[in-house]
Formats: sequence, structure tokens, C-alpha cells
Amino acid sequence: MTSILMLDAAGTPQEWIAPKEAALYLAKDQVAWHVGEPCTTLRGGTNVLTGLQSTLSLPPIIAVKGAVHASRSYRTLSCDGARLFRRDRHLCAYCGLVFRPAELSADHVVPESRGGPWSWTNLVTACRGCNGRKGNRTPEEARMPLLYVPYEPNRHETFILSNRVIRFDQMKFLLQGVPAHSRLRS
Ligand SMILES: [Zn+2]
Repeated sequence: MTSILMLDAAGTPQEWIAPKEAALYLAKDQVAWHVGEPCTTLRGGTNVLTGLQSTLSLPPIIAVKGAVHASRSYRTLSCDGARLFRRDRHLCAYCGLVFRPAELSADHVVPESRGGPWSWTNLVTACRGCNGRKGNRTPEEARMPLLYVPYEPNRHETFILSNRVIRFDQMKFLLQGVPAHSRLRS
């Protein structure tokens, strides 16, 4: 299903939301501006006099008036397995092969037992075989050099990593905020 990209009034991405939620913002007159041609249509009730069903066309990107709740924003940007695998293009950082998500794991570069955090810069995508071989060691100790360096995606990149189905106009908007060196551009 199409997700609507919700921004704040300044144009900063806030969350992917369902069409129904976007419709509520529109109905409450909380949409400051929007971008793009209508991408999805919601059907409402039938008018008893005319027999016609009401419809509401939704734009792919809406900017909502007022402040957006901070905890929601945090959840939106945090690192999770699915986003990590997409950041790394499903490529194991140790053997360099591409795997399906079910065959991948998040590897702590500095092991968790040594205080390595669950963070964008301490996690890489690893196949289960390589992760098991590396065990509780650093890449140096295991003599398994990293094939790429983990990095923290910026806000726009994180939104791209958070959604598997992104419309062209949404992608165009988000890519404007992605640095030129990002792997997402390649
Ligand atoms: Zn591997």
C-alpha cells in the first residue's frame, strides 16, 4: 500500500503514514502544503440523496502544521535490522556476498560484550556464517577486515531506508537531502 510522506511545515520528513491518517490531517485542515499529483484515493460513505460515493484524493507528500511529537520522530530514525540491511544493500561486510534478509544478521563491529553499542556506526550487515566465525572478536582480532565502513544515514536517507515501496516523486523529494557520497545514490 502507498504510504504518505509526512513533513513538518518547514519541510523536514517526520514519518511515513497510512492514507487514512493523511486524510485526517486534511479533514482537520492541518495540512500546510503538499507536493505531487494525487497518488491514492480513499472511498467514504454513500450519499443517500445522490447515491454517489464520496472520495478523497491524497497527495504523496503532505506538510503538517504545528509541532510533531518528539518520541515519534525518534522511533522513525532509530537503527533496526531491516534498515541496516538496506543501508548495506544486503551485502555481508565480511565475505561480500549478497543474501536474503532471513540469512542476514546485524553484527556488532566492537562486540556487545565489550561495550560496543547498537548504533548505526557500530553495526554492519553480516551473513550468519561470517557472524558466527567472527564471534566475540573485533574484525582485527578475527582477521576479517570490513569490506565497507558503517555510517549513520542522515534523516532523508533513513526515510528512504524505512520504506520498501517509495513513489518516484517521494524519492525525488527525499534524494534532495541525501549527501552526494551516499551509497543510496549509486
Ligand atoms: Zn558473509
